This record gives sequence, C-alpha cells and structure tokens, in this order.
Amino acid sequence: MPRRPHAPGCVALPQIALAFAPMSWLSDARTTALLLDRLDPTTPRPPISGDLAVDVAIVGGGFSGLWTAYYLSALDPSLRIAVLERHHCGFGASGRNGGWAVGELAGSFASYAKRSSAGEAMRLSRAVFDAVDEIGRVSEAEGIDCHYAKGGWIRAARTAPQEARQRAEVDELRGLGFTEDEIRLLSADEATKYMNATGTRSGIFFAPTAAIDPARLVLGLADVVERRGVTVAEQTHVLGIGDRTVTTTAGTVTADVVVRATEAYTRDLEGERRTLLPVYSLMVATEPLPGDVLDEIGLIDRPTFSDDRYMVIYGQRTADDRIAFGGRGVPYLYGSRIDRSAELHADSHELIRETLIDLFPVLRDVAFTHRWGGVLGIPRNWLPFVDYDRATGRAALGGYVGEGVAAANLAGRTMAELIVGEPTERTSLPWVAPAARRWEPEPLRWLGVRASRRILATADDREEQTDEEAKVATRLARLLRGG
Ligand SMILES: Cc1cc2nc3c(=O)[nH]c(=O)nc-3n(C[C@H](O)[C@H](O)[C@H](O)COP(=O)(O)OP(=O)(O)OC[C@H]3O[C@@H](n4cnc5c(N)ncnc54)[C@H](O)[C@@H]3O)c2cc1C
Repeated sequence: MPRRPHAPGCVALPQIALAFAPMSWLSDARTTALLLDRLDPTTPRPPISGDLAVDVAIVGGGFSGLWTAYYLSALDPSLRIAVLERHHCGFGASGRNGGWAVGELAGSFASYAKRSSAGEAMRLSRAVFDAVDEIGRVSEAEGIDCHYAKGGWIRAARTAPQEARQRAEVDELRGLGFTEDEIRLLSADEATKYMNATGTRSGIFFAPTAAIDPARLVLGLADVVERRGVTVAEQTHVLGIGDRTVTTTAGTVTADVVVRATEAYTRDLEGERRTLLPVYSLMVATEPLPGDVLDEIGLIDRPTFSDDRYMVIYGQRTADDRIAFGGRGVPYLYGSRIDRSAELHADSHELIRETLIDLFPVLRDVAFTHRWGGVLGIPRNWLPFVDYDRATGRAALGGYVGEGVAAANLAGRTMAELIVGEPTERTSLPWVAPAARRWEPEPLRWLGVRASRRILATADDREEQTDEEAKVATRLARLLRGG
C-alpha cells in the first residue's frame, strides 16, 4: 500500500485569488459532473410512501450504501432491504469523483499495523488491491458498462524532493513485502513513456488501480440492487437515526439494522456534526481530445495520473478521450458547512486548469467543457472504518478521505458479511472498528484545517522554487496520515 500525504479526492489549499477575472470557459463550461452529465437526465425514483418496516435500512445511495445492499442481497436474498437516499443515487461524491479505483486506503500502513500487526496491515492492503479487481468482476457479471480499465497509476516526481521521497517510499514498501509487480520505481524516461508530463525526474507505477466512470458504476449498481428486490427510495431525506429506527421526511422506517453511509453529509444528521469533516475537491474536464494531442500526452492504457506534490492532483483519460482532472478545492468552510457555491468556485477551477496545462502544455488550446466539485469525509484519525454493533443494530462505514471508490466496495462487502454474521477473511481486517473520536468544536476545526493546508501548499511552492525538501510539511503529512 503506497502511502502519500493525501488521496486522489483529498485536496485543498489556501485559497489563492487569481489576479485575472474569470475567463469565458468558466461561464461556458457545464457545471454538472462530467460523468453524471453524460447520463442525464437522472430522474429520481419516488420516496418511501409512509412508514416502512425492513430488515436492513441503509441511509445513503452512494458506493458505500449500494455495495452494502449489493452484497447483502446476494448473501441472503430473503432479507428486506431499503436504501434511503435524499436526492438520487450517485448525488454525492460517488457520482462526481475522479474515477480512480485505487488499491490503497487513507491512513498509513503503520497505523493499521499498530492496531493489529504488520501481517494484518498487509492483508488489508491486499484486500483493497482485490477490491479493484472485484469492481471489474462485478461490472462484467452484472453488465454495468463503467468503462473499467485497469491501467495502473502513474505518479511523476517533478522536483528533487519529490524524487527523493519516491525512492524512499519504494524502498520502504519493498522492505514490507510489496512486489515489483505491484509497485515500481521508474526512471524519467520510463515514466515519460506512460505520461509525458513536463519536468518529470522519476516516477512510480502502482499496478492495482483502474480508471472507471463512477457515475455509470453507481447508477448501474442502483439498478442492479433494485432488480434484486431492494427498495431504492430516492428523494427521501433522513433526519435522524435511532436504535432500529430512521426518521425521514416521508415516514418512519423501522429495521433490525440501520447502516449509515452518508460520508461528508453525515454532518447534517442529528448529533453527527463533528463525526466527519466535509472537505471540497474540485474537477475540470476537457473536450474529447484529437489524436495528435493524445499522442503528445500518452496515457495509452488509461493509467490514472498525478504528480507527487503535497496538495494532491489527480486525473484520468476517460474512455471518450477527455482528460478529467481534479485538485485543490476551496478551503474548508466554517462549521463544516456544505455549500454548492463552494463546489463551483471559479478561481479554484481556473487554478486546476492551469495546473493541468502546466503538466501538459499541449492542452492550452483545447476546450474545457465541464467544471464541478463535491465533498468527501475525513475522520479525526484519518482512518476509514467499517463498524457494526449487533447489540444496537447500528452500523456505519466510510471516512475514506479521498480514496473511497475501491475502498467502498471492500467496506460494503465487509459490512454485508458482518450483518449476516458470516466470518470471512474480510470481517477481521484491521479497519473493522468504530469511527474515530469526533472533531474539535469550532473555531478549532477551522483554524487547524486552514493552518495545515497553508503549510502544505507553501511547501509545494518552496520545493518547486528551491528543489529542497520542506521538512515541516513532510512531518505534517506523516502526522496527518497517522504514521
Ligand atoms: C471531486 C471528488 C473526486 C474524488 N475522486 C476520487 C477518486 O478518483 N478515487 C477515489 O477513490 N475517491 C475519490 N473521491 C472520494 C470518493 O468519491 C468517496 O470516498 C466515495 O464516493 C464515498 O462514497 P459514499 O457512498 O461513502 O459517499 P457519497 O457518495 O457521498 O454518498 C453519500 C450519499 O448519502 C446521501 N445522504 C447523505 N445524507 C443523507 C440523508 N440525511 N438522508 C438521505 N440520504 C443522505 C447523499 O445524498 C449521498 O448520495 C473523490 C471525491 C470527490 C468529492
């Protein structure tokens, strides 16, 4: 499990107001997630009609909720299962993300090893690798055309400190037992063959990663579970979760087990404001690119791509030859507020576009057709969790930071196995644990998040300008990921 300071979706930086007015692409671009936009219109399913009694109620129709429903309905087809979704399935990060099904989890190898042992942490890593393949297997078996391409992940080092960190990381992982087939260090020439980014000094190729169209996957999963008899109620706003009860705007649901799968939006549920920190991640997408532009960029097998700056960037070449690329979002909003205007922050989108052009100057003259954003959830200890309390019937999963696409498959599968009470190789993995303690009250949260982001972003600038490691940022990044 390679470790980086942040995950694909987990991005942020101090807000930098650009010196120029928003350019026309900002007003011309569509502001729906590219991947959801192509599937428009998403006509919501009806809400529950009055009170409902089921065996398992799942709150949230993203990957976490739907994978739980998928595996539960397979393990015990007699179960009455309802997914309760406030808007439509895929409304949250699951329908808007960068489409990296990446075989890694937020948090460090050391944190999971501390909870259990190095062997167990390794078992967890390999289980996430398997989740990447499992998404491919299920998509194929269920006829979900989610444009799955297992092309790995190419990470470029573009400064001397990034290059040094890559060497150290691969050495460390080799020492832990990760193989050359899973992760390998690349020379500048080898890295450039995968992705012709400017200033590449070295690279890491991480094999257990697939590019997908997340909207196709999440909407496809909703259809599959519905066909299996799961009630998928959309436009159903859950107000609060009690022991074996869910209060919604459309009626009360009673259930033996209630699964909370609401990720960043957990902050809206009664008593859960400080459970997960909602953080913004923003994306842009180009038009489908002509052959000569693609020849210049590479990414032939559709590996997902990034470089190794602290303030994470993440991209993929989509099946229709666009580049979908994400990065720095607006800062965390005071009080864990979630606000659509923050998802469409024009200066941040322009900065993300400029960052992509800095990687691939050939994109300067292409059209950017989409810009959008979403929120992801960060637990206080940065460790995602799968938690089921049989005594109260309460369950929760999530806290993936920015790496929830493959992780939610493993989490949902594990949750289903825990609920049916069937021990498997997954149910004892070291992330099966209650969520971390809650975040600090304001203004401490706001001050802490802003300060961390400022340090990391300043470090990137410094490393780029001086080619010297920003040691404070390295230590902070380690601290944030818990090891
Ligand atoms: C822009 C962006 C890019 C990202 N890129 C990547 C990436 O490339 N790879 C990766 O691994 N991860 C990425 N992530 C993170 C990843 O998308 C998430 O970790 C993952 O989708 C979380 O899935 P989920 O089902 O737990 O949460 P969500 O997808 O957020 O689903 C939660 C659902 O619960 C519903 N809900 C919430 N509250 C209520 C309520 N009160 N009542 C009823 N329903 C409710 C919401 O409407 C929502 O549909 C990215 C995230 C963002 C925002």
